[in-house]
Order: sequence, then structure tokens, then C-alpha cells
Amino acid sequence: MYRIVIALSLGLACTLRAADTSDHFSDNGYGKTVSNMQHPAAEHFNGVTYVAYQGPHEDPYVAAYTHATGTWAGPVRAGVNLMGLSPDQVDPGALDNHGRPALVVDGQGYIHLIFGGHGGSFLFGENKFGTPGSGRQTHVVTEKPGDISSWKVLDNVPPFGTYGQWVKLANNDLYLFYRHGAHRSDWVYQKSTDHARSFAPPVSVLKHKVSEAGPTLHDAWYAWFDNGRGDTITASYVYHPCLNPAHNAHRQNTYFMLMDTRDASWTNVQGQKLSVPVTKESADQHTLILATGTERSNHGTCHIDSEGHPHLFFRFPGGTVRYFRWDGEGWQKPTTVKDAGEFGRDGDFIIDSPLKVRMLLSHAANGTGSVGWWNTTDGGLTWARGESLISLPGHTFETSALVRNGPPEARMLVGGIKEQQSHLYHNMYLIGDHGAIGRPTAETNHLGDRLESIKAMPPSKAKAEAKRRKKAALGD
Ligand code: ZN
Repeated sequence: MYRIVIALSLGLACTLRAADTSDHFSDNGYGKTVSNMQHPAAEHFNGVTYVAYQGPHEDPYVAAYTHATGTWAGPVRAGVNLMGLSPDQVDPGALDNHGRPALVVDGQGYIHLIFGGHGGSFLFGENKFGTPGSGRQTHVVTEKPGDISSWKVLDNVPPFGTYGQWVKLANNDLYLFYRHGAHRSDWVYQKSTDHARSFAPPVSVLKHKVSEAGPTLHDAWYAWFDNGRGDTITASYVYHPCLNPAHNAHRQNTYFMLMDTRDASWTNVQGQKLSVPVTKESADQHTLILATGTERSNHGTCHIDSEGHPHLFFRFPGGTVRYFRWDGEGWQKPTTVKDAGEFGRDGDFIIDSPLKVRMLLSHAANGTGSVGWWNTTDGGLTWARGESLISLPGHTFETSALVRNGPPEARMLVGGIKEQQSHLYHNMYLIGDHGAIGRPTAETNHLGDRLESIKAMPPSKAKAEAKRRKKAALGD
């Protein structure tokens, strides 16, 4: 009898659990929760996938999924973003979003975040590489390896950075790339050989300067750095002709270059040595993939195939994603992966072989948002839509870069945005080949009474604050 009761209650518990499991692991993503720009947002290490995203107050939040047990820890707040506003904002334009975290696990298993920066302030001192903005680039690390419950600040990076990007080599050397200030600033890296406990001084790789076209135009860049093959690091970037003093959103052209970390040298795709920092003039001469003319381009991601050749995507107006590939002798004519006219247009990709590539991209059509595959088996000449890893009516999705070393069941951290809601909180999902990794619904509520507080807020105050922020905005 006793045995039967246990069997019955176990069966009941399983039924309840299955029925009471959510696709998301947390409900406290805030604003533009993730992006492939601040990357990686997640890393798989020793059987655990660690994820980082923007939560309440634009602060960085971290959660951890242990694959063997199917259990989640967190999310926990890992630090404070100086750009965060209180009370909670309800206008998307009120948030800065540049302070989103990028995450890396060092060779000893400690988890690091870089976050909170959008150029810093003149109050922090002289910025030799660029112009001031807001926030403060901040570096935090866990107190213990593999334990996200407690964090401390490591005061060892300049406060001026934004768009932090971690590159980890096989020998555990860490390279922290970032833009050293607001949009009129150099892109730099700092190298650490001691698990990010200290860094060598910044080295500039892309130079900002007054344009040769005239004093009211400024050369600036948006760049994306990641591991190449072996000991190399890729840089893919677009040019930003910034109007001085007013900022404008225009970006154009596509560029590629490669760093050999063994001697810190940079080359173009043909293998010709470059002197850094690269200027607009040297970029146009040596690293240009495509001059886009007046058509606006935006960064995507970049990976290297088994033959050492780069594949890239860049984003173009109207949701168009275009794929670029070096075939060994030249740049193949860019092809459209996803047609224009569809909302959502970002993500990352995997190279299976030089001709076989899978892109994991956000997408929305007919009122349903999804993140799914677009595949080519002919080197990008043609693309076919594959499976969706997540698909929800009334939603769109913010995508991050692929999980570093992620297993097939944990490919990408994404934030879901419900179209009809009166606040900026969003569900967070870790998705892979089996869909979203779920979590018992009872463990997914991390907002406390925030939604009730928002409902009780006088709307005029929130709107006035949003207007003030927009006016003071420093752009990208
Ligand atoms: Zn600008």
C-alpha cells in the first residue's frame, strides 16, 4: 500500500511539473535585454551554461543552467549599472541599453562580466582614445569559481568603454575589445594573461579622427571581434560618418581584417600586413569588402572556415541580412539570406564546412515572432529556411551571439518582447535544438512587485523623464 501511494504521488508530481513548466527561465529581462554586440552573452563551461542579460535598472543579471540535472540557478544581480534609472521606466526610448553585459568564464572557472559603459564621463579623467558619453565600464567577477551567487568589482579597466566583447584563446589568454568612449572614439583591446586579474594597456585598432572630407564629419566605426581559427582574432566592421557635433545614425560599407595574436600583427584578407590603428583611408584601401554607397549597412557576425576563409553577415535596411564569403581568391557576390520586409533580422551563425553554413536569426511574420535556422549548402548562393527553435504569437525576439562552446541544446540566449504590454519587462529564453530549455513556472518570477509599482506610477512623470532622457541622449 505504502509503495502504491509513493508511486501515485510521484506520478502526480511529474504530471504537475510537466504541466507547470515554462519555456522561459526568468521574467526579468528589461528593455533591449541582449544583443550580439555585447558578446558573448553566454558560455558553456564544465557542464553549466552561464547566461547574462540586462535586467531591472539596466543592471546585469546572471543565471546558470546545469545540464546534467536540468536545474537553474539565479538570476542574480551581478553589479550596478550607473545608467540605470529609478523608478522603472515604461518608455523604451528612456533606456540607454548600451550597458548590457558580456560574459566570459576564465581558465579557472570564475565568471566575468563587462557592462555599464557608454563612454564614461570627463569626471573620470582624460580619455586619450575618444569622447565622453555616459555610464561607467565596469568589470565584475564571481567570488568563487562556478558560483554565481556572489560578485565583486575588479577595478582594472578604463571607465570609458562600451560594447565590451570578450575573446578567449585556447591557452586562456583573454582579450577584451571595446570602443573607448562615445561614438567618436577608437576601438581598442586589452590583453590579459592572468585570467583578467590585470590587463596590458589598451591598444587601438580602429582610429577615430576628423574626416578628410571636412571638419564637420568624423570617422568612426562599429566593430565586432571574435575568435578566428587557431590563435587569430577576426574584426568585422562598418564605417560611421559621424556628423560633428550632432551625431547621426548613418553607417556604411563593410570591412574585414584579422589579428595574429602570436605577434599582435594585423593583416587584411589577402595576408598583407596592416599598421594599426587602421584609419578610414587605410581601411578603404586594404580592408574594404564592399562599398555600399548611400545604402546603410550594420554589423553582423563573422566566423572562419576550415580553410581559413572568413564568412560574415551584415545587416541592411528593411530587415535584409546579407552573407559575405571569401572564396580564397575574392569576395563572393553578397547574397540575401532573409528578404526585406520582415521584422527581426539579427543573430549569429555556424560554419559546418566551407560550403555549408547555418544562420540562427530572429524573424517575424504574420504576427508571430521566431528564432530559427536559415541554411545553405552551396556556399551561400542559395538559402532555405529551416526549423524554428522558438516561435510565439504576438512576440518578437532580441538575439545574442551564439553561446560560447554551447552544446546543441543551448545555442543562444534570447529575449522575448511581447507586442502588447505597458512595461519593459521581458521573458528570457535559452534555446537550442530541442527548443527552449524550460523551467518550473514557480521558479520563473523574479520581478517581485515591480509590475504593481508600474501600474501605480503617475504616467506623466514617466513620460517627462523619458523626454528628458531622449533630449540628453548621446546616440549610439
Ligand atoms: Zn556618431
